[in-house]
Amino acid sequence: MSEQTSPQALAKLGAALIIEQALVDGRWISGSGEPIVVEDPSEETRLGQVPSLSGEEVETAIAAAARAFPDWAARKGKARGEILSRWAGLVTANEHGLAALISLENGKPWKEALGEVRYANSFITWFAGMAERMDGRAIESAKDDDLILAFREPVGPVAAITPWNFPAAMITRKVAAAFCAGCTVVLKPASATPFTALALGRLALEAGVPEGVFSVVTGANSQVGARLTGSKLIRKLSFTGSTEVGRQLAADCAPTLKRLSMELGGAAPLIVFEDADLDAAVEGAIAAKFRAAGQTCVCPNRLYVHQAVQEAFLERFTARVAGLKVGKPFEDGVEIGPLISAKGLDKVEGHIARTKASGGRVLTGGGRHRLGGRFFQPTVLAGGDDRLFAAEETFGPVAPVFGFLTEEEALSRANASEFGLAAYLFTRDLDRAMRAGRALEAGIIGVNTGVISNAANPFGGVKQSGYGREGSTYGVDDYLQVKSLTLALG
Ligand code: NAP
Repeated sequence: MSEQTSPQALAKLGAALIIEQALVDGRWISGSGEPIVVEDPSEETRLGQVPSLSGEEVETAIAAAARAFPDWAARKGKARGEILSRWAGLVTANEHGLAALISLENGKPWKEALGEVRYANSFITWFAGMAERMDGRAIESAKDDDLILAFREPVGPVAAITPWNFPAAMITRKVAAAFCAGCTVVLKPASATPFTALALGRLALEAGVPEGVFSVVTGANSQVGARLTGSKLIRKLSFTGSTEVGRQLAADCAPTLKRLSMELGGAAPLIVFEDADLDAAVEGAIAAKFRAAGQTCVCPNRLYVHQAVQEAFLERFTARVAGLKVGKPFEDGVEIGPLISAKGLDKVEGHIARTKASGGRVLTGGGRHRLGGRFFQPTVLAGGDDRLFAAEETFGPVAPVFGFLTEEEALSRANASEFGLAAYLFTRDLDRAMRAGRALEAGIIGVNTGVISNAANPFGGVKQSGYGREGSTYGVDDYLQVKSLTLALG
C-alpha cells in the first residue's frame, strides 16, 4: 500500500483494528464494570470504549499467566523465537493499520506512527533472534574440583504497565523480551491508548502465542493495578511511566518482593559546545525535542548552548521550529500533532509563564495553535531560570535554551537534576565527547545525534529515572534469574 493514502482511508484502516474487549486467558471479554471511553485527541471525539475489568477478572488473567508459565518456560528458546518471528511478520503485514490506530488514539502524525510501529517491531525481531541464545555458564568452583553450572531461568509471570506516548513500542520492548526469556505476561496499557495494545494482543494470538501466555487487561488502576502489584503469582513488574506512579507501584510491590523494572520520567539536557557542527546540533535538537509533540521521556527538556555560538544556534533553531507543520495526524507533511490531554496543555502553558516570569523570552510560538483543541505551537524560549526544567518534564513542544561559558558549568547544570534518563551533547572534540559523556549522570547519552533509541541500545535511566534496561542484549536480563547447580567431582 502507498504511504500517501487519503486521510479518510487511513482513519478507516486504523478504526478497523479497534477491539472493544479485553484479552483474558486467550478469550475476548467485555468486562463487568462501566466501560472506559477512549478519545481521539486531535478531533476530541469519542473513538470507542474498553472494558473496566473487575478485580476478579484481573485475577483470572493472573491465574492464566501462572498456569501457562511452566509449559511456556519449558519450551525450547528456538520455539518461542519462531512464535515471536511470526508475530513480527503479522505486525509488518498490518503496519499501516497499526500506525493509523496509533494516530487515532494518540494523535501523532501517521508517518511518525508508522516509524513507531517499525521501531516496536524491531524489538520483536531482536528478541526472536535472542530466544535461542539463552545460554548459561560453567564456573570452576573456588572449593575443591567442584563444577558450578549457572542456568538462566525465566522469573515467572510478569505484569507490565505502559504509558500512552508510545502505544506500541513500550509494549513490545517489554513483552518480546519477556517471551524470549520464557515469562508469561499480563499487560495493562494506558487507558488513553489501549486499542494498539489490544490489536497487538490479537496478532500475538494469531502468531501462536498460547492462551494465558499474554493477557491484555484494561480498567481502573484501583482494580487492575492493585491486583497486579498485590498478586503473589506475579513475580515481576515492568513499569514505564511517571516517576511519581513508579514510586507508588514499587511500594505496592514491596510486600510480595517482586522484581522491578522502572522506566520513568526524565528531564534530559542537550549541550551544544562552541566547537559543535551547528547544523547537526540544530537537526539533532529538532529530532529529539519535537518527536511526539515533545511528549517523550527522552525529549531534551533544557538546551544549554555555549555563549560563543548561542546567537547563531538560536537563529537557525528558531527558524526551523517556526517552520514545523502542526496539524491532524493524517494530513500530508504534518510534523506535530496534538497533545494527549487538556492537562498536558495546562502544564506547557505553566512552564512558559514561569519562564517569562523569571526573565525568559519567547522566540517563536508560545501559545495554543489556531487549530484549537489540544494543538500547541512549537515554541522556543531563551533565558530565564533553568531549574524548573531540570526538576519537571514539560512534555510538550517547548524548547528552552540557556547559555553557558565553560564545560564545567554545562556539566554541572546538566547534572543538577534528580532525573537521569537521556542526555545529548554536540562537539567535534573526541576527548571532550568522551569526558563529558562519561561525566553526564544519565543512562542513555547521544553524542552528535538526537536519535538514541533502537533495539540494540540498552535503554534505561539512573537516579529518579529508574532502573533496569530494555532492548539490547541486556534487555532480557530483567526477565531472568540465575540458578546454580554444584557438581561435586572429586
Ligand atoms: P503515568 O501516569 O505514570 O501512567 C503510566 C501507566 O501507569 C498507565 O498505564 C497508567 O494507567 C498506569 N497507572 C497510573 N497510576 C497507576 C496506579 N496507581 N496503579 C497502577 N497503574 C497505574 O504516565 P503517563 O502519563 O502514561 O506517561 C508519561 C510518563 O511516562 C512520563 O513521565 C514519561 O517520561 C514516562 N515515560 C518513560 C519512558 C522510559 O522508558 N523511561 C518511556 C515513555 C514514557 P492509566 O492510563 O489507566 O492511568
